[in-house]
Amino acid sequence: MRSRPLLSVFPALTGLLPKAALPVVADGESAQGGIGAPAKTACDWKADLPQERYRVLFAEGTEFAHSSPLNSEKREGTFICAACHQPLFASSRKYNSGSGWPSFWEALPGAVAFKTDYKLLMPRTEYHCSRCGGHQGHVFKDGPQPSGERYCNNGLALLFIPRGEPLPTPR
Ligand SMILES: [Zn+2]
Repeated sequence: MRSRPLLSVFPALTGLLPKAALPVVADGESAQGGIGAPAKTACDWKADLPQERYRVLFAEGTEFAHSSPLNSEKREGTFICAACHQPLFASSRKYNSGSGWPSFWEALPGAVAFKTDYKLLMPRTEYHCSRCGGHQGHVFKDGPQPSGERYCNNGLALLFIPRGEPLPTPR
């Protein structure tokens, strides 16, 4: 199941050049939001998020490498979407990739959805929160076993809830 969305990279290769010239559409209108997804557009989130988080989640921004305090977060707990608060990653799936961004080898089931991104001309697999559509990061095939995947996540797109603290209600 986890590798299925990555297959979308390959058919998209044929459309590389025309698509590369197009602006990348923000993810806020993702149709993949699950049951109970908030009825918010990317614009609506602007009022609910600090500017730097909004820029990463809904305006195709990327934070600087090594800038997130979550890089060094090693406690047990859950990483949730900074916008809608859907749980995305368990701390047991986090590892130090050396990339400078919080990295995980597996997302929680159904927590993220995928699409191909052409911002660097070469296709990459972008993933976003399956509930609100907020951009989280990119997934690569150079991660550790057992998945072999590396979810390279913007720390600004996440909040960390230590084990023992209640998860906030999704918004
Ligand atoms: Zn979300």
